[in-house]
Amino acid sequence: MGHGRDCDQPSRPCPRRHGRGRPRPGLPLRTSPTSRARIPLALGLAFALEGAALAAPPTTAPLPDPRPRAAAPPAVEPAPQPVPASTCLARLALSGLRFSPEAAPEGPEACRVVDPVRLEALSGDGVTIAFPDRPLVACGFAEVVASFTREALAPLAVGHLQTRVTAVGTGPGYACRGRNQVPGARVSAHGRGLAIDIAWIALEGRRETVASPSDAAAARYLDTLRRAACGWFATVLGPGSDAAHADHLHLDREPRGRDGESRLCQ
Ligand SMILES: [Zn+2]
Repeated sequence: MGHGRDCDQPSRPCPRRHGRGRPRPGLPLRTSPTSRARIPLALGLAFALEGAALAAPPTTAPLPDPRPRAAAPPAVEPAPQPVPASTCLARLALSGLRFSPEAAPEGPEACRVVDPVRLEALSGDGVTIAFPDRPLVACGFAEVVASFTREALAPLAVGHLQTRVTAVGTGPGYACRGRNQVPGARVSAHGRGLAIDIAWIALEGRRETVASPSDAAAARYLDTLRRAACGWFATVLGPGSDAAHADHLHLDREPRGRDGESRLCQ
């Protein structure tokens, strides 16, 4: 019978267990940082052995008290993370468009505007085009207006009139109302910040109105611009469409049709 197996029996003395003999594997003489996990077992065995051999002098130094565990570091509250702006607002900030984010206008759910902003101006290539009406629109729609202005409205003026655009009259943009100002009608795209009404375009030294262009060249410019707008907007209405649009170009991006991609350009 081996020594180790005897010492596993609580009723049998094992006086040299911690003595000068070679330590048993797995039961070290002294505690160490790596052996502290075994202390409860060592203490239990030592207690049993002492009960069985009361007269036997201790042959080894008492086991030291387990080291107190290092105090756990105080819980650290995670630093508050900044609330990320919408990706649309981030894109808009890089687009050359000057705008100011706005609080959502109060109104019924049907008139909810996603990420409302006020358009102020569009800059690029050393030119600034102002939006003096500061229309309130949804951020996604602001991107469309910026693209349309940069890629159609401004270069078509240079092509047709050999002049630059300095400002665009857009109307207020947002308006929570029924279509064509009819109370009780389905909410207009203006009610979701998805529409503007261009009534005039300021050029260097003059202003052209949609209702009455000053000459044939200006009329061609406005007509070309109106047709081009169908590439950016879902609905384009203007003089000749109906009485409600006799003096401005209504441009909106409210999805049309089953797939949301239909167009109404008159
Ligand atoms: Zn309109």
